[in-house]
Amino acid sequence: MKHPVVIVGAGLAGLSLAIELSRRGVPVVVLEKDRFPRQKVCGEYISQESERYVNWLGVSTESLPHIHTLLLSSRSGRQVTLPLPKGGFGISRWTLDNLLAQIAVDEGVDLRFGVTVRAVEGNRVITASQDTLEASFVTGAYGRANRLAAQRVPAGSSHYVGVKYQVQSDAPADQIEMHIFGGGYCGFSKVEDDRYCLCYLSEAGALKAMGGDIAAFEQKYLYQNPRLRERFSEARVLGERVTTSQFRFATHGGMHEMQLLTGDAAGFIPPITGNGMSLAFRGAATLAPVLADAWHGKVSGEAPYLLQERYVNGYLRSRIRKGVFLQNLLIRQNLFSDTLLFGALRVFPALGRTLAKSASGEDIGLPHEAQGPER
Ligand SMILES: Cc1cc2nc3c(=O)[nH]c(=O)nc-3n(C[C@H](O)[C@H](O)[C@H](O)COP(=O)(O)OP(=O)(O)OC[C@H]3O[C@@H](n4cnc5c(N)ncnc54)[C@H](O)[C@@H]3O)c2cc1C
Repeated sequence: MKHPVVIVGAGLAGLSLAIELSRRGVPVVVLEKDRFPRQKVCGEYISQESERYVNWLGVSTESLPHIHTLLLSSRSGRQVTLPLPKGGFGISRWTLDNLLAQIAVDEGVDLRFGVTVRAVEGNRVITASQDTLEASFVTGAYGRANRLAAQRVPAGSSHYVGVKYQVQSDAPADQIEMHIFGGGYCGFSKVEDDRYCLCYLSEAGALKAMGGDIAAFEQKYLYQNPRLRERFSEARVLGERVTTSQFRFATHGGMHEMQLLTGDAAGFIPPITGNGMSLAFRGAATLAPVLADAWHGKVSGEAPYLLQERYVNGYLRSRIRKGVFLQNLLIRQNLFSDTLLFGALRVFPALGRTLAKSASGEDIGLPHEAQGPER
């Protein structure tokens, strides 16, 4: 049996693509190695550009915390509060991924949990238990640095580690905090149900040199920033800490051996932008209409591949470059540049607005609306 579309990975990119395709009359199979709900390392702040699309998918954001300001602190504890011109909202991945999975199943998507894909060969997907699925189109939505697309972090590039805690706090609900420390940054913002997400990204070398002792590493490096030390001592940790590694901030091309890549599999943007999740949704919103048209025979079978190459190597690459610039600007600080940058942000608030704007994207829009060049 040949399936119209098989999607590998039920993260935000895979599930949103599956839901939109299903609503466009395309039968979809999604293969996911994990079982839901599950924790995932993520700052859990979603930029505004995808809110209407997320609502259209079926997730209500009405009762979620909406975030309009950014509190930025430097390594030495200087701090500045900036308005976020577009802002965003908070929701945990535990809740969001699980909600989308339920919606996908309700829409008729054949969602199979606990299925690890071992290889993709042309339009054949081979699972770890040696089952083979054939499809007209295979989409890789399996996240970053996945061996299915040979996207390992190349030797010589920086290695990073990501760590997340769910915590309780009395911090303002409408503010995201971004605390810089030597070699990384830590985000802190509210999600649903009186919970907050405390999540950081750090170069991995120092942690490795400390034998992987995360608590000792946090005390030595993160606590150098007095605001961050306060935040850690004030927060009451709920549940388990989750960690991740293997990052490369770059695009990987829109396709790999006849797989259409989407979400982080197509390109990973620095988390400091708070845009990775919105780009996963944007990837789905971009690909779904053309993929559906190709399956219904309205456009050629090549059209989705051409579109995806254009989108990834144009729009997505440009967003990632801006994100890398922002990340380098903030974490490659020494005491001198730190004083200079935070001084300038205080005196010229417009600079902060410009930086925040440079990282954000236009509203993804709804499927029935006229689409701009990005979609
Ligand atoms: C430290 C950190 C902080 C971040 N903070 C933010 C933030 O605040 N805001 C934001 O917008 N973004 C943030 N991001 C980025 C965001 O998490 C990603 O961009 C987003 O998860 C991308 O979704 P995705 O569906 O492409 O990939 P994922 O969510 O990674 O989903 C991929 C899915 O594929 C499955 N899979 C993988 N391999 C296989 C296989 N072989 N077979 C079957 N299934 C497979 C995985 O189990 C997973 O469920 C952060 C990332 C990190 C690391």
